Amino acid sequence: MQNLQGKIAGYDFYSALEKLTDNSGLKKFKDCYKAFMHMVREWQFLKMVKRAGRSHSRTGIKGTGPGELAIICPACPHPNINLPEGWENVSPDERFIYFLFLAIDTCFRLKRCLISSEKKDPGLGTGLGSFIEDKKYRKYLLTVTDQREISSCTSLSALDHTNTKFSTGYATTGTGVCCCARHELIERGGVGDLQKGERYANMDYVFSSVLRHHHVKLHKVVSYNIACQWSKNLLEHLKSLPSHIRPDNIGSYNTVIPKLHVFSHNPPCPTDFSLNYLPGAGRTDGEGIERVHAMTGPVCASTKQMGPGYRHDALDAQWLFWNWQKVVGMGLAFYKKLVKALLKAKLTREEFERFSEQQPERIHEWEEMVVAWEGDHTQPNPYTIPKSGVTEADVKLLLAQNEAQLASQGVPTVHETVNASAFIVAGLGLQEHQRKAAHHVKSTNIWTPTQKTELLELRTRLHHELARF
Ligand SMILES: [Zn+2]
Ligand SMILES: [Zn+2]
Repeated sequence: MQNLQGKIAGYDFYSALEKLTDNSGLKKFKDCYKAFMHMVREWQFLKMVKRAGRSHSRTGIKGTGPGELAIICPACPHPNINLPEGWENVSPDERFIYFLFLAIDTCFRLKRCLISSEKKDPGLGTGLGSFIEDKKYRKYLLTVTDQREISSCTSLSALDHTNTKFSTGYATTGTGVCCCARHELIERGGVGDLQKGERYANMDYVFSSVLRHHHVKLHKVVSYNIACQWSKNLLEHLKSLPSHIRPDNIGSYNTVIPKLHVFSHNPPCPTDFSLNYLPGAGRTDGEGIERVHAMTGPVCASTKQMGPGYRHDALDAQWLFWNWQKVVGMGLAFYKKLVKALLKAKLTREEFERFSEQQPERIHEWEEMVVAWEGDHTQPNPYTIPKSGVTEADVKLLLAQNEAQLASQGVPTVHETVNASAFIVAGLGLQEHQRKAAHHVKSTNIWTPTQKTELLELRTRLHHELARF
């Protein structure tokens, strides 16, 4: 429990026990560290089996299927478990209730050094929880050649590193992780080891592995920080996966970029892949997966030094403990969020209605634009800010060019140190300050000494500038 909750490495815990017995360094202890670690590993595995309810199954632990040790999210839609009959036939404006939100991302901190081997250290339950079945996955990766992906969105460093991310000395350079985006539970079979940067081959495999555990008719909203590139050839890429994992049909889906990440993308990504503009996305932000990475952060150092099997068992224990904690905490967490959401929804609606009342002549046209764009992204995007004509910098450049031309023709300047364009810019600046002063007077109701001082200072500055002008 210290390891799962506090991320204390087994070695540190064991050493602390020794030191509690004798901290003088005089006493020699019998070395039970190895035996202790075997016990920890076994205990953690049995806990996972217990939480997954394997003892209620006739086939027991041996009959555990792929991913079955990962506790599924009770808040996500699961037909035949928590959905009403006929859920797939609801009206379009209620369909969002049955959206499945998934988040995919890579964690490059979860590396593993080139030590031990699959033969020397097989996992107790690799493939039964968060990790995908290892043997078939590794066999598939042998068939994948280096993928050179050209990113059309220049800010994406992950892709640029696809083939260059240093891998010397490492058997694994990171992990590709998939969780449910709204509740942050690790998906069944939702983790795969990476060998070189963020290759699509790995991520597509992880994605397909997760889809196997969900109903094809559920509409999927998939959040990924490189969704703009990944989604381009997704269906093509999925077709090239081996038959045991390849989905026949992935059904309807949207790809989006997490809300914080989307602003580092070039236009039109911030609008086309925005969760804010996707009907039915609610306030999902897609960033929850970063919290999952933050949770495993402290165990990176210890799992890096483990053999392949033990690392899988140890990380599975962390993720599935995380899932368990999420489920246990859902009641209170959802209650608090619901109370907050109801209040905020009411306020937002009132503001929206007030705003709409003030724009009766425009509302109709705007609504039509929004609906058209939501149905077809090739229609004009109502959320993109149009480019507004000429900028001040453009004008400055034009004036400077004119002056340079006159100078080259030998035309003398009117003033020795200030040229015509600088004079105009100074005049415009002066006008702006005048307006600021006027606004200050107009918007101030109570004149405290501070307010009076501010105005006096503003006026004095104006007088100086006017004199200079
Ligand atoms: Zn969920
Ligand atoms: Zn982009």
